[in-house]
Formats: sequence, C-alpha cells, structure tokens
Amino acid sequence: MNLTGKKTAFLNWLPDECFYSLCSRQHCFLGDQSTDDTLRLLFGDLAKSFAHDFPHNLKLLNKDAMLAWGSPEKIICEHTISPIFFPFQSSEHVQALKDALLGPRLGSCKYKLGLVTGRFGGAHPLKACAKCMTADRSVYGTTYWHLSHQLPGVITCPIHGLLLMESTENRQWSRSFRWILPDEPVLAEMGKATTDRSTLTTLQAISNSSVALYRLGINSQFDLSKVVQVYKEAFSNLGTSKKACVAAGDRFAEYCSVLEPFPPFSALPCDRQHAIGFISQMTRKPRGYCHPLKHLVLISWLFGRLELFLDAYQHLIKRQEIQKVRNPKSLRLSQTIDELLPKADRKLGAPRPKKIFNDLKKEVLNALLNDSTKKEICSNFNISTCTVNRLLRLNPDVEKTFINKSYLNKLEEKRTIWSATVRNYPSASAKTIKNLAPDIYAWLYRNDRSWLFSQTAALPSGRSGNHVTIDWDARDESFCSLINQLLTTASSDLKKVRKCDIYQLVPNLFSSLEKRSRYPKARKLLTEITK
Ligand SMILES: [Zn+2]
Repeated sequence: MNLTGKKTAFLNWLPDECFYSLCSRQHCFLGDQSTDDTLRLLFGDLAKSFAHDFPHNLKLLNKDAMLAWGSPEKIICEHTISPIFFPFQSSEHVQALKDALLGPRLGSCKYKLGLVTGRFGGAHPLKACAKCMTADRSVYGTTYWHLSHQLPGVITCPIHGLLLMESTENRQWSRSFRWILPDEPVLAEMGKATTDRSTLTTLQAISNSSVALYRLGINSQFDLSKVVQVYKEAFSNLGTSKKACVAAGDRFAEYCSVLEPFPPFSALPCDRQHAIGFISQMTRKPRGYCHPLKHLVLISWLFGRLELFLDAYQHLIKRQEIQKVRNPKSLRLSQTIDELLPKADRKLGAPRPKKIFNDLKKEVLNALLNDSTKKEICSNFNISTCTVNRLLRLNPDVEKTFINKSYLNKLEEKRTIWSATVRNYPSASAKTIKNLAPDIYAWLYRNDRSWLFSQTAALPSGRSGNHVTIDWDARDESFCSLINQLLTTASSDLKKVRKCDIYQLVPNLFSSLEKRSRYPKARKLLTEITK
C-alpha cells in the first residue's frame, strides 16, 4: 500500500495488452507489496477479489489509473475479452455485462453469455506465446499477457502461428489469486502438442476468426434470425437430399475432430449423429444464450474465414432490402403505407387501408402455426407486432395453437438449459444451480413448478443427505477411467504427475471433488498417482 503519501505513477499500455496484464505489471513495478495491497491500490478497500478474464469493480478503479489507462468502458472494450461475446448477443445483454463489470459482481452474466451451459466451459486460463515472450523481453524488457492470446478460441499465436501455452496459476484449483506475468515455469502445454501442418492451419484459421469476431464485437451485433438464414443458405448449397445432409454431418464431425484435442473445443461433436444434432440446432431457432465459439466453429467450417461469413450476411441483408422495395407485398402488408413515411409526410385524415390481402394473411397465419416467432414474422413480412397481434385476435384458433406452441417451445428451452447447467455442475446443490441460472429458475418456478421440483429434489441439497437418484458410483468410475486414459496417453518422460496437471486435463474434476463425501475411487487414484 502507498503509505508514503506520494502519488503513484501508473504505467502505460503495451500493444495488444489485456487489463489484467497491465495491473500485473503495475504490481511488479510497485515492488515488494502483497497481492491485496495492489488490489486495494487499484480498486480501493471495497474490492475483495479480481478475475483476469472478466475483471469487475471497474467503477472503483483508482482515478489516477483511469487518467492513465482510460475510462472503464474503454478498458472493457479494448482490453478485456468481453467483446468476443457481444456479436451474437442482444444489446440488452451486452449492456448488462458492461454494467456487471463496472460493479462488484458478475451475477448471472456468465450464464447469459453461454459460459455455464455451453460446451466450451467457463474457464479462461491465461495464455502466452513463447516467441512473443522472447520478442517482448528484448523490445520492452518484460513479458506481458497479449489480449489476442486470451480470447476464447485462440489456440495459436496470430503472429507466429505457434501453439499457445497456458498458465498453471490463477486457475479454479489455485489456492489464491496472483498478479503474474508470462514466465516459462508457470506455463504448460495446452492440449495435444502437434506439428501436423494441416491441423496447425485449421487452428490458425479459427484463432484468426476469433480475433476478427472480438474486433467486430466492439461495435456491432448480428441479427440472429438473419444469421440462421445465412447458415441455412450455406447448407442448402451443400445439397438438400438426405444423403447430402448425412455427408455434411460426416464432414463437420471430421472438422470437429481436428479441434477436439484442444481445450476449449474438447466437447465438440465428433460423430455423425451429434454433428447433425449440432447443425440442426444452429439452423433452427436463434438462441439468446449461445457461446460465440459455437457459432465460430460452424462458421469456420462452412465459410473458412469470418470475413466470408460477413460477406454472406451483408449480401443477405442487401438482398432483403431490395426485395422489400421491389416486392409490393411487404408494403401492402404494412398496417398502412402511411406508416412507412415520416410523420410529417403522412396524409392526415386519409383512410387507413385496414385489410391485408387474403393470401398474405394466410401466409402469416401459416408461419404462426409453423414455429416462427413473432419477431421473425415481423422481420420476414415487414409488419409490426401490432398487426401480428391483431391477426391473432381475429383468428382465435390460430392464437390458441400459437400460444400453446410458443409455451411448449419455451418450456423445452428452459428445461434444456436447466438440465445442461445441472450436467455441467454435477455436484452443485439446487441453490447453486438456481444462482447460476436465476432467470431460468424464476421462469420454471412460475410456469413449470412440478417439473422443477422433481428436478431439484434429485440434486444434492447443499447439506449432507442421500441423493439416491444420482449415480455417484458411475460418475466416480467415469472420472477414474478418464484419469487412467490420461496416464496411458501422457508422454513417458512425465517424471512426476501433479494434481493440478490432472485437474487441468480432466474437465469438471476439480469442481466435482469439492463434494467431500463423494468420489472415493477418484480421490484414492489421485493420491496414489501423485505420491
Ligand atoms: Zn507469438
């Protein structure tokens, strides 16, 4: 802590540096002080913790530091990984995340960003490139954490093409948080080492696309219903027959298998059935809480580069705009042509055409019966929500079916998210799951209480008790076989196996072992091999 009363000098950003890196360099610059002293200096006494991936409390940042480093908004957009999560999110979610980073806690943001229920995990280990470290030492006299290396999906260095290494510190299982800079002793290989040229090319392509997606996210967001249309068109170009769909599934699974050995891609679909499931999910309905890597994997396979997807997306928008102008249908379908004109140009007192042509009415009603959302219908037919609501009111049978279908879709979506959260946190109590997905809990509590209660009853209570519905033995066995599998594939020069290495390589093992009364076999095995 600064006890001398002197003003602290703050360092300046280095190129492509993340916020945690600058704070860590500041910590080293200040010399012999504790982690907590630096935390207090930077964020005041109220700040109790810090996270390198999603730094919060930015509103409390030291005023002199803000003068040197920029506003919290600038820090969020230019020096944290957050913007990579923005392109496929609604503006409300983006604002909620920014607000959360300013405040004392992230709340339910991680869940909304797809970090809790997605297949990519919520851990973002610090990453570094050996060649960048050497270059930075010689140019700047220090190593630092490059922001582009930290982005989810970046596996190889965008400059050198080398596989990145990941930090063994500041992990879920680390005892304490530390301000550190990249240094060889705290770095370990990330995933499987490879020199295969085509694998490295694939990894480099997805790494570059991740960086491009991050840059895009600083200022723009996609319209999800249009994203789905672009995907559908790209797939229809591959063929629409059953044979073509199966072939596409096989090729996508093959692509995923190249990425699969590298976290965070370890849960990608590597067989036909799962690949087809993944594709059909992404080409069905736009989902709000989807991890950006899910889109990026599909985009990288379909288009090769994010830029080519962007071209297709912009082309679709232009085409739809031209259609709107050329196609009088959309104009007739508007509540009134007048509404398309600026208010001042509207003819006051002119009769409003109330009737929508019958064939178009039918099309809208059909779309309502065929799983389209109101938002999709408004955008596809260029009509307002009021028009859709009026049509529904005039057609009570359709309205009833639409409400039922929407309710069932929503029910399915909420149940799926709840179950996925439970699967990802196998030892979490109902209360923990509720805190991870508060919106989902609230919706299910209001609308699907008996199902919710049947699910929470099967979860650990958070206190001691019997959870007969959970097959703890099977989970224990599965962890043991994963650990054994790891040992047989590990390189023979591994002199000593450390627990943290195993935690790093077996997803969910660390969080599961926090349940002290469970997993006796996995515990015993861990103790034996790390003796
Ligand atoms: Zn590099």
